[in-house]
Amino acid sequence: MAKLKIYTFPDLVLAQKALPIEHVDRSFYRLADDMLETMYDAPGIGLAANQVGLLQRIIVVDTDFEMEELPEGGKAPAGAEVIGNAILKGKNPRVLINPEIIYQEGTISFEEGCLSVPEFTAEVRRAEKIKLQYKNLDGVSQTLAADGLLAICIQHEMDHLDGKLFIDRLSPVKKDFAKKKLKRERLDREEYERLQMEALARGVPPPSSPQKSKKKGI
Ligand code: ZN
Repeated sequence: MAKLKIYTFPDLVLAQKALPIEHVDRSFYRLADDMLETMYDAPGIGLAANQVGLLQRIIVVDTDFEMEELPEGGKAPAGAEVIGNAILKGKNPRVLINPEIIYQEGTISFEEGCLSVPEFTAEVRRAEKIKLQYKNLDGVSQTLAADGLLAICIQHEMDHLDGKLFIDRLSPVKKDFAKKKLKRERLDREEYERLQMEALARGVPPPSSPQKSKKKGI
């Protein structure tokens, strides 16, 4: 397994529509494994292909797992799955290829965040219950009924496949505010990284983190 790079707003791949997967071959086992590792490591409860730079209709979700800190000394019990500095427990990974909602019911509001929209959350309204059709990693058609957090998560990930972020679902004023703020923070982060590299190359102390002054702009 390998951890993949997570693209963040305003990277263009997040605004593009992913294409249906015509033939589910064995290479998708590897991709799904890598996407799950990336998701657990983040940690996140869902990840869409767009977020790792691929325009293919595949998402991974797990709304059940828990992360437990490694015990003192960093040694995990035998058989435990370790991701980063934590033990992964109770996982229930799902891989959904070409997912399509075939039924939906009710509405639910939830404070959403996104691995591709760092440090920003907002309340989003979605269908409360959904039923979907998708293909599994063996290319077999399946149906899944979901409600609550799993339904929210799947709808959020399916939006990614259509080139949509949760901030695109906000009112025009809120969306505009969010996008400006996120772009500014990304520039700050990139500038900080550039200065840090420069300092490293010149052997001088690195600049202080932009995190400290960021609060002001909100
Ligand atoms: Zn997301």
